[in-house]
Amino acid sequence: MISLGIECTAHTLSIGIVKDGTALSNVIDTYSGGKEGLIPRKLADHHASVFAEVLEKSVASARVSIEDIDIVSFSQGPGIGSPLSVGIAGAKYLALMHGKELVGVNHCFAHVKISEHLCKMRDPLVLYLSGGNTQILLADHDGYYNILGETLDIGIGNLFDNFARAIHMENAHGSALAKLAEGGKYVELPYSVKGMNLVFSGLLTAAEKAAKNKKIPQRDTKKDVAFSLMETAFAMTCEVTERALFLTKKRDLVLCGGVAQNRRLQQMLESMCDEDGIRFGVAPDEFNRDNGAMIAYAGSLLYKRYGALPIEKCVPITNYRIDRMKEILG
Ligand code: MG
Repeated sequence: MISLGIECTAHTLSIGIVKDGTALSNVIDTYSGGKEGLIPRKLADHHASVFAEVLEKSVASARVSIEDIDIVSFSQGPGIGSPLSVGIAGAKYLALMHGKELVGVNHCFAHVKISEHLCKMRDPLVLYLSGGNTQILLADHDGYYNILGETLDIGIGNLFDNFARAIHMENAHGSALAKLAEGGKYVELPYSVKGMNLVFSGLLTAAEKAAKNKKIPQRDTKKDVAFSLMETAFAMTCEVTERALFLTKKRDLVLCGGVAQNRRLQQMLESMCDEDGIRFGVAPDEFNRDNGAMIAYAGSLLYKRYGALPIEKCVPITNYRIDRMKEILG
């Protein structure tokens, strides 16, 4: 089966093509809001303006023709309404124009499934970390995911982006913050874990205050606070993940989502897993960014189980939590 997948939940418009579990193409175009952040209208304009080009490149690099494609999968949520609407309009156009069936995909489910597949792990504990999401997930006997723990306020990626914006970084993004943090020294910041849940907003406020502290002028305050913010957030995340591993008695851990690309986090989780005799898996960066191939892959899994989604149901579900899949699809 050949599935074309469209990712469009936030800053990224991506179209990937997957054949029987192998990515044939994965063309990604990400809008950078710079200092101003992600403005919904501008995301929608970006996706509309690059859609045709991304589609053309994806089909060409997969060496297939539109006729070869069996299903058109698209990100249905969670995400921001206006960019989602553009991606879904594109999916409907393709499907109607070329006589293809449509499959709506939960974005989080796609991150999880492509990572389980690429790490060759069946039924692991999953740590899903991105801009908007921070969740510990476990599938039930029917393959539906339950959320064992999650952020009670902002996602870990948003924590980093918000801090980067607060200290006026040109590229207000977690990856740039990680570069700044290199070689920083630890300063104490609040650590807030509630069972298997996390709270980040107090940490953000404290870090913003600490970054303005000019008491020790010879030190690079922004670097030190960036380093400490990331170390603290990752340590909190490791703690709740370890608790979930012991509770569930799982022997495999998969890390996925945009923040999964962070090497320091990977290193911390890997050493935790080594100590506990747990297998640790993380997919290549390309599949942890928001990308169309993961939507195509997850779409093919959903199509096999539920068939196509009727076109009148192809609408954005902006608050589509992964634990609502049973209610929405079942
Ligand atoms: Mg994502």
